[in-house]
Amino acid sequence: MIQLADRAAMISPSTTLAIAARAKALAASGVEVYDFSVGEPDFDTPAHIREAAKRALDEGKTRYAPAAGVPHLRELVAEKLRRENNLPYSADQVIISTGGKQAILNVMLAVLGPGDEVLIPAPYWVSYPEIAKLARAKPVILPTDAANGYKVTPEQLRAAITPRTKLLILNSPSNPTGTVYTRAELEALAAVLVEAQVAVLADEMYEKLIYDGMEHVSIGSLGPDIFELTLTCNGFSKAYAATGWRLGYAAGPRHVIKTAVDIQSHTTSGATTFAQYGAIAALEGPQDALEAMRQEFEARRNLMYQGLRELGLPCPYPQGAFYAFPSVAHTGMDGATFCARVLEEEHVVCVPGDAFGAPECIRFSYATSRALIEKGLSALARFLQRVA
Ligand code: PLP
Repeated sequence: MIQLADRAAMISPSTTLAIAARAKALAASGVEVYDFSVGEPDFDTPAHIREAAKRALDEGKTRYAPAAGVPHLRELVAEKLRRENNLPYSADQVIISTGGKQAILNVMLAVLGPGDEVLIPAPYWVSYPEIAKLARAKPVILPTDAANGYKVTPEQLRAAITPRTKLLILNSPSNPTGTVYTRAELEALAAVLVEAQVAVLADEMYEKLIYDGMEHVSIGSLGPDIFELTLTCNGFSKAYAATGWRLGYAAGPRHVIKTAVDIQSHTTSGATTFAQYGAIAALEGPQDALEAMRQEFEARRNLMYQGLRELGLPCPYPQGAFYAFPSVAHTGMDGATFCARVLEEEHVVCVPGDAFGAPECIRFSYATSRALIEKGLSALARFLQRVA
């Protein structure tokens, strides 16, 4: 029998996928399912982006691209980061990868090794601790409070830093809480990081989905010292409704990006060539589809947040991304029990918070129609009435 590597025991399977499989099975049996588990926009990728990729196929863009990405796309990403995010990157500081997730993996593999500690504020996106472990580093979880919007504080950060701390992971807007850090909050965190010379991975995947007129601030834009310590990760999946294209990017100091490219050159060889031409059209073309999608997400956020409040499911007001993350502690159930029961009894699909480091919570994605949100909230109300 083939013996598995010790890595097998380190990695937890994705609960999100297990729930999604059960929901699919229920739907296939003809049951109407109210699915709030999906972490992707329900819109199609804008037509001009699809057309550009089709054209690239017809023009023979079917061969290997350079491992770091199509040069014109790297230039456009650097230009976008300079223009929109005030991050002074040049093209050779950018790597295009197979989704935002692989961009994160590449830079974490480039900077982390055995003994390194990675600070991860909880609730966190499910893959951060797993990727840290794949890189043989130690995830150190920093619990945060619903009362202050699930934000890590500078005092907490300072107290958690040890001589082995290598990296803080910061995700604003956040999956799963919808939390958005303000400029002042980021400045305070940046001061601690610069003083301790700890790097930060800024996962800005949801930067375009931000509400109430709030601004997205990139921590690396807050001065030359923090810029040198920042790895900025982002991608096309959420902003351009392009999850299946598998296109993301990271930007950072040249020596880190060069190493990330070397790693990528020995693993995937880079992102799909003709897909990258779609990304070029995404960045060069009109951006109005993004704003239309953002406005729709904001309307859904309002509906979902108001509905959850009326049902007595408290959660901090989500100001970005497309998730609400209420606690169910007052029902006497943990998140996993709540999700399993509400799925079987009312066919509402949500994700238990344990995978996000908050077992007392559940995650709702509102990347679904308003009609389904309304029906799902009614089903949830029936469930809560029964279990109250
Ligand atoms: N970062 C966060 C916070 C996410 O929620 C996701 C996807 O769900 C990603 C990164 C990865 O995105 P991609 O689908 O481009 O790999």
